[in-house]
Amino acid sequence: MTRYHSVSGGAGSWLAAKVDMAAHPYEDHRFIFADTLYEDADCYRFLIEGLAYLLGRAAIVPSVEDFPDYRVSGDFSIETYNGNPEWREFLAYLRRQTAASIPELTWLVEGRDPWEIFRDKRFLGNSRIDPCSLLAKRELIDAWRDLNADKTTDVICVGIGPDEAHRYNRLAARHAKKGWTYEAPLIGTTEGEFGPFGYLANAGIERPRLYRMNYMHNNCGGFCIKAGHAHYQNRLRKQPDRYAYDEMMERKLSDFLGKDISILSSRIGGDVKQPLTLADFRRRNEEKPELDFEYTPGSSGCGCAIDYEEAA
Ligand code: SF4
Repeated sequence: MTRYHSVSGGAGSWLAAKVDMAAHPYEDHRFIFADTLYEDADCYRFLIEGLAYLLGRAAIVPSVEDFPDYRVSGDFSIETYNGNPEWREFLAYLRRQTAASIPELTWLVEGRDPWEIFRDKRFLGNSRIDPCSLLAKRELIDAWRDLNADKTTDVICVGIGPDEAHRYNRLAARHAKKGWTYEAPLIGTTEGEFGPFGYLANAGIERPRLYRMNYMHNNCGGFCIKAGHAHYQNRLRKQPDRYAYDEMMERKLSDFLGKDISILSSRIGGDVKQPLTLADFRRRNEEKPELDFEYTPGSSGCGCAIDYEEAA
């Protein structure tokens, strides 16, 4: 029997694995990570450092400074875009290096980042329909699981906490229909109530830097198709250069598709949702710097490696 942990590079799935390993010390524990090739450099650092800690294993942990830039510099066409080759080569090297010291980690790569998927599907996702995570995470993980795990004996653990138990119930029911057992080790535990950051501090592991910049999740380097105004306002304030890159990619995709598309929307001036490009949202914020958006449930993205319910 193997207990597989779906790890996203986020603090919640790390703590869930920690709790589960303590509860089942004599069982085989393995880890599945679906890489969008668009994660923050510090997400990869945290993934490796966090798993090495849980396994009591020495591993080479990269620092943020080791990584090339994920962005493509200069002018380029989105038609032929396939990420920054230097960044992707480094990630391939990191996968090989990590496999040598943490063979329990299955590091899955679909091969396209979210922008490539939006381009290829000719559709910019949204908060309900997310082709990026459907293809680069959920279907990838499910296909790997179907080939490599045993539904009669194995368990898949996810990092959902007690405040989102409804998500776990839907998820478990969905996979149970196909005979799979999913568990959420944090639900019903003290650790789940306290949350991961204190446990990370006790372990001497620095929390991923996106959390330190007020992001609510550690996915896709702080970019997210499902995120809302509060998320992008925070990104504009904390990482204006990365916001500018998102803005440029949104514009390139819009030009490529030949229609007005936007991650955000606005209801200003009426009840009907209007597209709100990242360029317009930035200008709004520049004109009214006193504007403050608050995170509301669901406004930050993203449990997108596991949430099928709202996907296409
Ligand atoms: S974090 Fe957002 S953009 Fe990235 S794969 Fe998930 S839904 Fe898509």
